[in-house]
Amino acid sequence: MLNKTLSRRELGLGAAVLALAACTKAGTTAQAAEGSTKGAMEKKMSENIDWANLTDSQWKARLTDQEYKVLRHEATDRPFTYALLENKETGIYDCAGCELPLFESETKFDSRTGWPSFWQNIDGSLGTKEDRKLFSLRTEMHCSRCKGHIGHIFNDGPAPTGKRFCANGSALHFRKA
Ligand SMILES: [Zn+2]
Repeated sequence: MLNKTLSRRELGLGAAVLALAACTKAGTTAQAAEGSTKGAMEKKMSENIDWANLTDSQWKARLTDQEYKVLRHEATDRPFTYALLENKETGIYDCAGCELPLFESETKFDSRTGWPSFWQNIDGSLGTKEDRKLFSLRTEMHCSRCKGHIGHIFNDGPAPTGKRFCANGSALHFRKA
């Protein structure tokens, strides 16, 4: 229940729509189904899935091969392969596994690493753990809802946070504002 509450709050612009939908209960009033609310409505429906407890084969069926390898088995995209690496459009980068909003386009920056990078995540969207692979200690980041692997966090990012959230493009779905 906590996750549901958090993720609704994190939807930002969609919050009002969700509030409306929650109040009416009927779901698809003409008003709520209008235009840009479609994505929000789909998200609301997707929240009924018990994301943290999907099986490996269920994930495999839901995701593309590369999404599955990255999100579920911590593979890393080859650098400079993400189609939206240079994307400067305003919008939200959602988790490719469960569509939880992870990053806002305003926090994206060019790290010249070949991976989409952000200096801040949306509050509460990520969990972290220590990653000692590759003979060094790194901070792994994953989606707080479906636990899908997103990338790593480094301390060489720009102001104001000094953090670099180095993400795999395969773990992200961009949603234009
Ligand atoms: Zn997720």
